Amino acid sequence: MASAQPALHAQIDQKAKSLEAKVIEWRRDIHQHPELGNREFRTAEKVANHLRQLGMEVKTGVAHTGVVGILKGGRLGPVVALRADMDGLPVTERVNVPFKSTVTTEYNGQQTGVMHACGHDTHVAMLMGVAEVLVSMKNELKGTVKFIFQPAEEGAPTGEQGGADLMVKEGVLEHPKVDAIFGLHINSQTEVGTIRYRSGATMAAVDWLSIDVKGKQTHGAAPWSGVDPIVTSAQIITGLQTIVSRSLDITNAPAVITIGAIHGGIRQNIIPEEVKMIGTIRTLDEDMHKQVHKRIQDVATNIAESAGAVADVKIETLYPVTYNNPQLTEEMVPSLEALAGKNNVVITPAQTGAEDFSFFQQKVPGFFFFLGGMPKGRRGHESAPHHTPDFYIDESGMVLGVRSLSRLAVDYMEKHASKKVQ
Ligand SMILES: [Zn+2]
Ligand SMILES: [Zn+2]
Repeated sequence: MASAQPALHAQIDQKAKSLEAKVIEWRRDIHQHPELGNREFRTAEKVANHLRQLGMEVKTGVAHTGVVGILKGGRLGPVVALRADMDGLPVTERVNVPFKSTVTTEYNGQQTGVMHACGHDTHVAMLMGVAEVLVSMKNELKGTVKFIFQPAEEGAPTGEQGGADLMVKEGVLEHPKVDAIFGLHINSQTEVGTIRYRSGATMAAVDWLSIDVKGKQTHGAAPWSGVDPIVTSAQIITGLQTIVSRSLDITNAPAVITIGAIHGGIRQNIIPEEVKMIGTIRTLDEDMHKQVHKRIQDVATNIAESAGAVADVKIETLYPVTYNNPQLTEEMVPSLEALAGKNNVVITPAQTGAEDFSFFQQKVPGFFFFLGGMPKGRRGHESAPHHTPDFYIDESGMVLGVRSLSRLAVDYMEKHASKKVQ
């Protein structure tokens, strides 16, 4: 497989290298002009102009600000989608680079800076580079490449829909129908030159949880004449801890239940009517996902009932599990190993963070991997994590991203071209 198209492979590497300075320039421009989810107007325009200049068929305004480019190869074959997310975050940049973001906005009623603190600026720049690489070998391509530039990966503003979910609903995987999708995430704590991946469940499903505990208000000096929702909530929170530790088979996959906020009461000597708590659930296995929901429901309602209170549990699923199709993963990893060197392509533990690439993977086989963006020689724990003001990416890692996505597309098309034509 790795040697099926040596000429195209060499062309990818050459072209990617020659584009490196341009990719870095695009990235710096996007970095300096970050935009929040569903507001990626400038970024989308930059992307659309680039794709049009390359002669691609371009659709804009997909899922608000998304851009989709279609590149038809000179020969018949499958349809491969490549995806980059475009949104920044409400974080004030503290890194002193010449292209530092000074953009500010109001977010959830607070004044804040805006920053590409997750590295999506690099994703956009790399995929723009990939588009240019693959256009340069258009006649040799055995199939079609769909370039998906996605808004709002970090979540849409309150009251709005957005992201991969909305793109899928708007039919981004149809016309032409996508056979496989690839995506990557730059990582600030993985060395440049390293690729990390995992087969199967890679990033967690995310649920938002809320539990309202209703008791009966009374004087704080006479608890017996009411039903105390604060004591009941304390018992429920303790009860929730037993779900992961006592009910789940954690040898199968990890899970997390976190209560992030609890509100109730107003004064020392009043037992309030109600306590509200909110939290998040992370799971990596669909059966465990269902089991956790049922156990939370049972634990909360039964503990409340035993106290004479009532617990109202609401769980909303935000993102499903980011699940790398095992067959596709096995098929494509050799392509990455050929590029990065076998020792630099490593299997990573599952992550309890989430990624809305999962919505694409629910519909078509997909493979999502992590690309090193940390300066060589530094240690992971010394580097600022994603979503923080000191988040920093070493741009020399991007050329491997351009090569990787180009190579995955070309190799997938090569491998599946014959099947498709028949
Ligand atoms: Zn992020
Ligand atoms: Zn991200």
